[in-house]
Amino acid sequence: MEELNSIPRRRERIDEFYTIGAKLGKGSFSVVFEGTERSTGIKYAVKVIKRSLIKQKLLDREIEIMTSLRHPNILFCKEVYEDDESIFLILELIKGGELYDKIVDQGEYSEEESRRIVRQIVDAVEYLHQNGIAHRDLKPENILCEILPGSTEELQLIHIKVADFGLSKMFSREDLFTKCGSPIYVAPEVISSKPYDQSVDLWSIGIITYVLLTGCFPFYEEKKNFKILYEKISNVRYEFPSDPQLSTEARDFVSRLLVREGKDRMTPQQCKEHPWLQNRHQKDRT
Ligand code: AMP
Repeated sequence: MEELNSIPRRRERIDEFYTIGAKLGKGSFSVVFEGTERSTGIKYAVKVIKRSLIKQKLLDREIEIMTSLRHPNILFCKEVYEDDESIFLILELIKGGELYDKIVDQGEYSEEESRRIVRQIVDAVEYLHQNGIAHRDLKPENILCEILPGSTEELQLIHIKVADFGLSKMFSREDLFTKCGSPIYVAPEVISSKPYDQSVDLWSIGIITYVLLTGCFPFYEEKKNFKILYEKISNVRYEFPSDPQLSTEARDFVSRLLVREGKDRMTPQQCKEHPWLQNRHQKDRT
């Protein structure tokens, strides 16, 4: 396991170092603005979190995690400022918005586009798990995107960054017992309040892959009937739609992640070796 070092928080006034610009978005506990570093002119995203809105422990955890991670598919946090009311995270600026909005706009992605996105999520999760961190709330709303040059109508090239570590925990410290996360994405063990581990993130990758490939959720209840929804999730009751036509490898990839027992799900390493992520077709394996 690599050694993670978080950076110290600065007590100086943020506006001495950054010009705060337009609002970029709003989360449950934060508002995010564009910020320009005065000394370099480089633009960042400044995430402002009001201390009063979030438990100190949760806040400290998000900051500790975000400032210690270095991976091309994980949102980079350059600096942290604080005053008595707020915490300011200086984050790399990601212009393409949330993966969620991209999926809503696009409906579903081709297998090639989905594979490219899922590969990056798997890389990020492998890195997190190697460092003793479970994200616990992986979903398209928490994944930011950059559309890369060279994208065409047929093939959108997206670079993704996993963000929002508000629910992450260093799983070596305590069991991941808390019932958290969004209902549509939660794994069976979270619903049944059993102790769980980092394999909840592999369940989430299964859900995200399904959503990218089909444009719909594997587990869904029209009337927000959580009892029925939870029952479907607990019994892993889902089907693939007949349209779009999905390859056997894509179905197999999802079905090895949407597995009831966490210990039976693929690990990130196994995901990377799976024929679907490797883009090997059955006919190639003769
Ligand atoms: P969050 O509180 O992290 O959920 O962020 C709320 C919203 O702010 C997100 O949904 C994005 O639209 C925007 N946002 C957050 N971080 C960034 C960033 N690094 N670059 C650009 N926009 C961001």
